[in-house]
Amino acid sequence: MFHCVKCQGLTPSDLGGKLLARYVEATCRLCRRENLKLFLKGDRCYTDRCAFERRSYAPGQHGQRRGGKISDYGIQLREKQKVKRIYGVLEKQFRMYYSRADRQKGITGTNLLILLERRLDNMVYRMGFSSSRDQARQLVRHNHFTVNGRKVNIPSCQVKTGDVIEVREKSRKIPVILEAMETVVRRETPTWLEVDGGNFHGVVKAFPNREDLTMPINEQLIVELYSK
Ligand code: SF4
Repeated sequence: MFHCVKCQGLTPSDLGGKLLARYVEATCRLCRRENLKLFLKGDRCYTDRCAFERRSYAPGQHGQRRGGKISDYGIQLREKQKVKRIYGVLEKQFRMYYSRADRQKGITGTNLLILLERRLDNMVYRMGFSSSRDQARQLVRHNHFTVNGRKVNIPSCQVKTGDVIEVREKSRKIPVILEAMETVVRRETPTWLEVDGGNFHGVVKAFPNREDLTMPINEQLIVELYSK
């Protein structure tokens, strides 16, 4: 598990209760629950230590027995849970993204995915400065990045086209960032981003089109779920 250099060894109470709400259950259970590799643990996901490769059935005592008919509501609910887990967003915030996507012009489901992609923690991950979105979230919270030259420590910050995201000068020797940049070759840098690893920065050239997002997501199911 990744610890930030600043908070390593400290408990939430040591940090004055300032930690934000976040998912704390065993991460690999989420992939097994969704029956899909969600790539939540960085490098480990590409090795044979991946729990989903070894046990690709649902977690829990009856995990191997499940497989009965799922209702339409159940299918929609699972799809929403899957997307929340991929982007590491909790229910309340996810609902807010949905409301915003619904108010925008265009297709609500696509708008929702683009809003999630525009999160700063996602951009840091996509650019290869972290090996998972969870790790990106911690790095952003601890002030290791700037956006257009200004310190930003809010992982949910929405980036715009043309924004320049940079690892701060003082953070360029942090091992987890360097390791992530070394191993990023395992996943492709998206075409809508321009990354200059040597100078520790990346530019958001454009927002992705729906066809650029290749995770198996059926966002229409989420729209149907929330439209009830
Ligand atoms: Fe999912 Fe990664 Fe864990 Fe495999 S290692 S189960 S892909 S989080």
